[in-house]
Amino acid sequence: MRIARFTTGDDPRFGIVTGDLDEHGEPDPDSAVVALAGDPLYLGVEPLDEQVRLADVRLLAPVLPRSKVVGIGRNYAAHAAEMGNDVPSEPLMFLKPNTSVVGPGDPIFYPRQTSELHYEGELAVVIGRICRDVPAERAGDVIFGYTVGNDVTARDLQRGDVQFTRAKGFDSFCPLGPWIETELSTADLRVQTFRNGDLVQDGSTADLIFDVPALVAHVSSVMTLLPGDVILTGTPEGVGPMEVGDEVDVVISGIGALTNRVARRD
Ligand code: MG
Repeated sequence: MRIARFTTGDDPRFGIVTGDLDEHGEPDPDSAVVALAGDPLYLGVEPLDEQVRLADVRLLAPVLPRSKVVGIGRNYAAHAAEMGNDVPSEPLMFLKPNTSVVGPGDPIFYPRQTSELHYEGELAVVIGRICRDVPAERAGDVIFGYTVGNDVTARDLQRGDVQFTRAKGFDSFCPLGPWIETELSTADLRVQTFRNGDLVQDGSTADLIFDVPALVAHVSSVMTLLPGDVILTGTPEGVGPMEVGDEVDVVISGIGALTNRVARRD
């Protein structure tokens, strides 16, 4: 089931997106959104007898993390190598503020403090229930679903700062979407990033050093996770620059395509 957050001009609502996806993760033109009674994270999935055409809605970030986005660094060996780093012996965690989250189609703002803005296409895990110390074998019990993320990074600031907070924490540095897929095996999902239509990242979650259950276990051994919190699982090799005006698509098989354009903030 694909759950989106959307607006038709009024207050945001949630809905189930129907129809098939093409190989680029784009939905069938006849797809519809069946409205839900409320936020499925808190009310469960309660479909209403009401639907709108997907083409007539604006999709929003499918989840607003209640407290945090947890990033995982260097979780693909080839990406750690391209950055000149060793593979960590434990998941390397950092936080992105929930104010960094934007939705599909929203601009990624190029901050004046950087001159090296990078995309990082990533599988994003959406937590469904409050939890702590979750054993890896129980991770599925606390996961609501999966969406596509772009862990936007100011690479020059990341190199200069000891902490990643500034480099990964600007407003608009965490595009999420286009919706949450609730039924999915994450064993071997293709993660692709396109810059202005050119394929620049092409990885598979089969190459994650620490897989999704291991990440949920590790993160929840440190901090309580709340419904709507998000774990970004790390990026495959091929990270690189984005410039103002670029269109960046992150496509994950079985989920869909997240598209954003880079803009200068006036
Ligand atoms: Mg990342």
